[in-house]
Amino acid sequence: MSLKKITFNDRQIICQEEDTVLDALLRAQIDIPHACRQGVCQSCMLRSLQTAPPPAAQNGLKDVLRHQNYFLACLCYPQQDMSVSLGADSGAFATATVVGKDMLNADTLRLTLQCPDIPDYYAGQFVNLKRADGLTRSYSISNNRKQRHKLEFHIRRLAGGRFSEWAHAELAIGDSLAVSAAQGLCYYLPGRAAQSLLLIGSGSGLAPLAGIISEALDQGHTGPIHLYHGSRNMAGLYWTAEMRRLARQYPNFHYSPCVSGGEAGQGVCKGRAHELAMSALPDLKGWRIYLCGHPDMVHQAKRQAFLKGAAFQDIHADAFHIGATTPA
Ligand SMILES: Cc1cc2nc3c(=O)[nH]c(=O)nc-3n(C[C@H](O)[C@H](O)[C@H](O)COP(=O)(O)OP(=O)(O)OC[C@H]3O[C@@H](n4cnc5c(N)ncnc54)[C@H](O)[C@@H]3O)c2cc1C
Repeated sequence: MSLKKITFNDRQIICQEEDTVLDALLRAQIDIPHACRQGVCQSCMLRSLQTAPPPAAQNGLKDVLRHQNYFLACLCYPQQDMSVSLGADSGAFATATVVGKDMLNADTLRLTLQCPDIPDYYAGQFVNLKRADGLTRSYSISNNRKQRHKLEFHIRRLAGGRFSEWAHAELAIGDSLAVSAAQGLCYYLPGRAAQSLLLIGSGSGLAPLAGIISEALDQGHTGPIHLYHGSRNMAGLYWTAEMRRLARQYPNFHYSPCVSGGEAGQGVCKGRAHELAMSALPDLKGWRIYLCGHPDMVHQAKRQAFLKGAAFQDIHADAFHIGATTPA
């Protein structure tokens, strides 16, 4: 078995063969920001001080960060001893104040933050929210960026989930939260206003899609915009009245709420959102696609959209990976 030595500040710890650098640091009780543990949220970015990190640990990082030996601790299985420090970006959090909390359905909270120092963002990107004790999770921005310093999130309560349970039950109006700069490539860019758009979301995956739709309509997008929002049952759907109102207001916006189980209510389709979308829209050549929510749905829909002709660079996806638990 090959053990590697990791030096962090003045401490030296041993990384077991099957462990990532993040596993090893957390096991040694070193408090590293982290959330998704899948290389998506980038909150565990560290810098290798003497040696180049394994290339696989730099997946998704900008070139400028790769050149400076930044890497993601959750993806890094060290191939040699490493000396590491916290990445410069890891500490870049602005302070926000909770200004609104209301329920969108029994499990989904709309959390509104006022954040005067947030760097510019696009609706649909995600930020990392950090509590005072350092617990950090990623959430997608659901509002239009016209309200520059206001951020809205849809947070689904997971039974036993540390951040989501706390945000639902304990976080109060007036409390502070730390907010990272916005990240991710799942957002609406103006230009190609006549392009057809397909958006598919499951559960709170509606959050980034709602922001993208609002942005596109505001910017005068003229092409058809199709939203499929899926849930297991009727109780899991939300914002149906708002989406129907938008569909009445904008003839190019088409809304299909879908449930995969139980009775489908009036105007709701029966089936899985991505399967219904794919059978209703046989040719996606030239379309721009946005996929958000459950990782299985996102991965399947990505593949199907590509097979139906969508260009790879026109498929934007945010899989809501839920972090695995910290090793004992
Ligand atoms: C890019 C991105 C964007 C996202 N956007 C959103 C969004 O807009 N809205 C949203 O709701 N979510 C979003 N997520 C997911 C979000 O970041 C969190 O992962 C989610 O809210 C769960 O966090 P938590 O702390 O509540 O749960 P965690 O404490 O991380 O637990 C996750 C699950 O594991 C279970 N669990 C916890 N501890 C144990 C244990 N010891 N043994 C067994 N099971 C355990 C919990 O019961 C829970 O079901 C996004 C994720 C990513 C990566």
